[in-house]
Amino acid sequence: MYNLHCHSLLSDGVLLPSEVAARYLDKGFKVIAITDHCDYSNIKHVIKSILEFTRHWPKDCGIKVLPGVELTHIQPKQFKPLVKYCRGKGIKVIVGHGESPVEPVVKGTNRAALEAGVDILAHPGKISDADVLLAKKKGIFLEITTRRGHSNTNKHVADRACKLGAKLVISTDSHHPEDIITPDQMAKVAVKVGLSTNQITQNRRILEYFLRKI
Ligand SMILES: [Zn+2]
Ligand SMILES: [Zn+2]
Repeated sequence: MYNLHCHSLLSDGVLLPSEVAARYLDKGFKVIAITDHCDYSNIKHVIKSILEFTRHWPKDCGIKVLPGVELTHIQPKQFKPLVKYCRGKGIKVIVGHGESPVEPVVKGTNRAALEAGVDILAHPGKISDADVLLAKKKGIFLEITTRRGHSNTNKHVADRACKLGAKLVISTDSHHPEDIITPDQMAKVAVKVGLSTNQITQNRRILEYFLRKI
């Protein structure tokens, strides 16, 4: 019922935020965060637009939309100032675009995003145990993704997070209508990477706690 990582045409998604929300509502979701790709070139504009959107989104229409960003392909030392900037502007969900196995993400990005205090480290690839432990210490979610390619290292992320006690979140990272699946289909991906029903429930409760706090 929750998906805190997806894209609209404010970056490289194909749908307006309104249609993203409408399609997630139709699939049975209750809360989403729209987290468009940002670096220094577009962050002011994206934040202004998504905040304008969420401010006007009616509270009684069945789905809550949180304003988010995904700090993407930035240099490691840029995480700290940009995370601070996003928090100051009122962004609720900050995703760090982690060291995916299918993109040339700068080495050290996982560590820098965690140190800067993102909320979710997306597709962190072959994340090291030291970084999993840092995520645990800082209460940052590590992502299991349903997105093709990025999902190649889901099993590694799930295994290390469960063994070392870090929080997990599952998200779609959707860009197109066909990427928007149902909550049940998301849970199936979590089972496929080795999570038990208990672990899925426990992680959902932790996510609900996070959502109450923001
Ligand atoms: Zn993208
Ligand atoms: Zn993304």
